Amino acid sequence: MTVIAQRVRRFVPTGRRQETARVVCPVDNWSFAPKFTNGVCPLCGYKPEGVEFHAPFAARIDWFWPSMAFMIAASIAMGVLVILAYGHK
Ligand SMILES: [Zn+2]
Repeated sequence: MTVIAQRVRRFVPTGRRQETARVVCPVDNWSFAPKFTNGVCPLCGYKPEGVEFHAPFAARIDWFWPSMAFMIAASIAMGVLVILAYGHK
C-alpha cells in the first residue's frame, strides 16, 4: 500500500511544492506564482533567480497538426473498415 501511495504521490500535485511558491518582484512589489506566468513577472517581465520554470511537455507542443494527422489516420482506418465490412460475407 505504501509503495502504491508513493507512486501515486509523484503524479498528484500536493500544492506544497516548489512550483506553487510565490515570488515578489523587486521592481514593482508584485507577488506572483512563476508556475502560472511562465516563470516571469507578468507586469515587467522580471525573471526571478533560482526559480527555473519550464512548461510541461504537453503544454509546449502545438497539438493542431498532430491531432489533424490523427483524425486523418482515423478517417482512413474507418473507411478501410467500412470497405472490409461491405465486402465481407
Ligand atoms: Zn515586475
